[in-house]
Amino acid sequence: MTLTYEKMVQALKRKGVRLTGARLSIIKVITRKQHVSASAIIKEVESEFGTVNVMSVYNTLDMLLNEHLIFANTFNGKHIIYEVLGDSSIHLKCDLCAKVVHIPESEEQKNLLDEIKTICTSNNLTSNHLKIEAHGMCDTCKKEGKPQVDMTRENKIVDKF
Ligand SMILES: [Zn+2]
Ligand SMILES: [Zn+2]
Repeated sequence: MTLTYEKMVQALKRKGVRLTGARLSIIKVITRKQHVSASAIIKEVESEFGTVNVMSVYNTLDMLLNEHLIFANTFNGKHIIYEVLGDSSIHLKCDLCAKVVHIPESEEQKNLLDEIKTICTSNNLTSNHLKIEAHGMCDTCKKEGKPQVDMTRENKIVDKF
């Protein structure tokens, strides 16, 4: 189950975390969007309050990471994208156009994830969260006849993300 805004606020209140208007606004943005960068959060909070303390946005993100309510992903090893924690996350990334597809949790996935959890257990790790990231070329890029990625090209296109 992916955390909702209400559940996240409840969890923080239980821990005695002080929730200012700006913090609540940040939590709202993260729970409303699937993938969000710090700069996008700053923009949203700014539009709500007219002004934003950038440091406090980063402090709040750190706090949410420490409380294990969100996680940070770098799909291209460069830009950090924040996401609300779910039981698992499966992401498919096109290395050419940098499009990222988030696969929602489903019954169908459960068997696959259970198998991975079994591998974890037999290697002495009790997993509490699974992250799976597949890389390749999307159909749109394939149709456009874009060449397959080589390392030099990949290093150039990450800037587009
Ligand atoms: Zn693509
Ligand atoms: Zn995602």
